[in-house]
Amino acid sequence: MTTNFPKSTANRRWGRAQMDAEADPYKPSRKPAGPVVCRQCGAVYRRGRWQWGKVPAGVKKTLCEACRRTRENYPAGIVSLASPILVAHGDEIEHLIRHQEGAEKADHPLNRVIAIDRSKRGRMEITTTDIHLPRRIMNSMLRAYRGSVSERFEQDGNFVRVEWRRDR
Ligand SMILES: [Zn+2]
Repeated sequence: MTTNFPKSTANRRWGRAQMDAEADPYKPSRKPAGPVVCRQCGAVYRRGRWQWGKVPAGVKKTLCEACRRTRENYPAGIVSLASPILVAHGDEIEHLIRHQEGAEKADHPLNRVIAIDRSKRGRMEITTTDIHLPRRIMNSMLRAYRGSVSERFEQDGNFVRVEWRRDR
């Protein structure tokens, strides 16, 4: 699959009126005004944070940032893995990544994997809806498989790129 890299221009499908109110539709600090529920994943926003749980009666429905990013394939983080060990250990590493995602998502509903691309031999690319999960994945790779990493934040800290590699 292809990845849409975030651009500095705002989403062009948004009209002028929305642009003024919501300059960056993906800005992580943008918070709903009152309690809302995501109509797709069921995450509930209340008391200042997104959480899993019972949906209060009569709350407004919305599409959360994570579901929107997933739908539009617009990641906030990219983790690139490169190593010959991915050939023999690909399934095991994907399992590790999914496990880390599950642990992260339990506490932070909007931190998720968008896609895991294993189409290139000896490589794996993981896209995420947030900038925190990539570091968690990076640390788990170092713990389990050693190797080396680099982490680079872009776009005023709203986008992160992590690269892990192990030569043998
Ligand atoms: Zn959602």
